[in-house]
Amino acid sequence: MPPKQPATAAESGASPWDEAAERIRASGFRWTPQRRTLVEVLRAREGHVTATELIACCRERDQTTTPSTVYRTLDLLEDLGLVKHGHGHDGHEEYHILPQQVHGHLYCVGCGATWEIRPETGAVIVEALASQLGFTVDLSHVTISGRCAGCHD
Ligand SMILES: [Zn+2]
Ligand SMILES: [Zn+2]
Ligand SMILES: [Zn+2]
Repeated sequence: MPPKQPATAAESGASPWDEAAERIRASGFRWTPQRRTLVEVLRAREGHVTATELIACCRERDQTTTPSTVYRTLDLLEDLGLVKHGHGHDGHEEYHILPQQVHGHLYCVGCGATWEIRPETGAVIVEALASQLGFTVDLSHVTISGRCAGCHD
């Protein structure tokens, strides 16, 4: 597949998005114009995106897109492993596009910045709660609020 845009790491070679339509049909769902629009929007981005942003981007391209269509399609894409949801500090849904490794997040109440918790730090949290309480932490749903180094008084 010849690159149509400047190559980035995500675009070198075949993309998992190439098979999205086929895999959605294989799961027994219809491949609709609205679903195609959402996949195109996701394909053009990387990292984290909120459901609200995705709905706005889809509606810019196709006014017939409703929030429920976007949410239902995101559920399908999550089943296929193409996105993974977590929650921001206020509970809103955030999606990881083509998720690599499950991770938690830090949120600074001072400046509003967010960071990913490094895998080795995440492992410490998971292991401590597993050994102390037998509790299995879902790191994808861990968001710790606090103040970053730049926002201390
Ligand atoms: Zn959730
Ligand atoms: Zn801060
Ligand atoms: Zn993340």
